[in-house]
Amino acid sequence: MAELKIFVGGKWQPGTGKAMQSIFPADGSVNATLNAASLNDLEEAIACGERAWRDPAWRAMMPHARARILSRVADLIEARVDELAALQTRDNGKPLAETRGLVMSAAGTACYFAAACELLEGELPTPRQADLLTFSRYEPLGVVAAITPWNSPIASEMQKVAPAIAAGNAVILKPAEATPLMALELARLFEQAGLPAGLLSVLPGKGSIIGDALARHPRVRKISFTGGTSTGRHLAHVAAEKLIPASLELGGKSPTIVLEDADIERAARGICYGIFSSGGQACIAGARLFIHQRIYSTLMARLLELTRALRIGHPLTDGVHLGPLISKQHRQGVMDYVQLAQREGGRLLCGGEAPADPTLAAGSYFQPTIIEGLSNRARVCQEEIFGPVLVAMPFSDEADLIRQANDSVYGLAAGIWTRDAGRALRLSEQLEAGTVWINTYKVFSISTPFGGFKESGLGREKGIQGLKVWMQQKSVYLATGNGINHWCD
Ligand code: ADP
Repeated sequence: MAELKIFVGGKWQPGTGKAMQSIFPADGSVNATLNAASLNDLEEAIACGERAWRDPAWRAMMPHARARILSRVADLIEARVDELAALQTRDNGKPLAETRGLVMSAAGTACYFAAACELLEGELPTPRQADLLTFSRYEPLGVVAAITPWNSPIASEMQKVAPAIAAGNAVILKPAEATPLMALELARLFEQAGLPAGLLSVLPGKGSIIGDALARHPRVRKISFTGGTSTGRHLAHVAAEKLIPASLELGGKSPTIVLEDADIERAARGICYGIFSSGGQACIAGARLFIHQRIYSTLMARLLELTRALRIGHPLTDGVHLGPLISKQHRQGVMDYVQLAQREGGRLLCGGEAPADPTLAAGSYFQPTIIEGLSNRARVCQEEIFGPVLVAMPFSDEADLIRQANDSVYGLAAGIWTRDAGRALRLSEQLEAGTVWINTYKVFSISTPFGGFKESGLGREKGIQGLKVWMQQKSVYLATGNGINHWCD
């Protein structure tokens, strides 16, 4: 069992906070022990970050040289895909096929922001005012905070760290308590790629202690957070108090809509992936399913067949669809929701409990679960479960469908399955969601902005603007004539 050090201002040192552990959700064994970062470690990281981002050598570094660091990170990741995927699987229990995808996506993100940092352009307004040249350039914010959840560490951490570094900032990354392994490994990759010391610190520890102190620290000039809506709301207050920007990627309860002309096989497979991959532990999980009543029974029959055939098993084994949930405590929360659904009048069509297989008893496994017979107003349709639980509902009227799909405090994503592209586009305009997938679900492109409507978040990550959110604009006025100001005549 490894005893991990934390990464403070470019140095590997034991944390001086409380003892913590990384647990393998597949069997409850301890992957590693470490000491969390203390408030002293935080002060040291911030002081190093301040020096590092202000260092004239870093500020003057040519964009292609900064890009090279990120490209090297991508190369280092690609050379170790299987090893890094296994590490992430140990941290959060996601099956290898998924963690491999996340590792590759992190490499792609590093490449994208390497390119973006070279392509970034300021603005030169035209036509210009008489005798004035004005332009606006993007500058870094300073020391910035990245606070991340446990469900997709390498991908969500790279989505913050790569653009923050490309933009010239110093980043303090606070990973989730459950998943310190991957964030610390990410620090090692940036160190090996030649990132100057102090520009990245990784401070594992409790959100309410180290995360909160990080966000509140007067020298921290931006908070980028991915996690639950209540923590996001708290951090929005902290940011408002300090008058600093906050990017918040929060929860969801996304609707998937199947119209009467949909390709049933494609839709059934897409729905299955959209809710049950990652064991439903995804903010974008397609958790509410609206099916046109004319195809309801046909689609549900196929969906149940596919769901019952999903393989639940040890996440380090190839060919597994669902690994364990993050912890037994989280599984209990999911189970409580399934019982609540039944009390509210829902009919359990499959799943609803831990698998019977005795070889899985030590892990926090849970069967993929489908419930019907509830209305969209039921609590299990309104609250985020963050587990493999799908609620299916028939609809017949399009206007009523849109009203129900939008009847949620969340607005992260939505899915539409139909052969009628025009109708899909019209529906996409009416859906209150930051991402709409048509005839696909839970696929991503790094060049496409991602974020939520309503209580699903504030701001966008990815795309060129995913770099600009880590910068501030400075406008410069240069007098081009020889005119003199006569005000004081
Ligand atoms: P989840 O439900 O996905 O665990 P959380 O919002 O609880 O979402 O956690 C996401 C991240 O936010 C984690 O890194 C966690 O430690 C951190 N966090 C939790 N509470 C706070 C807080 N009060 N201030 C700052 N960060 C926090």
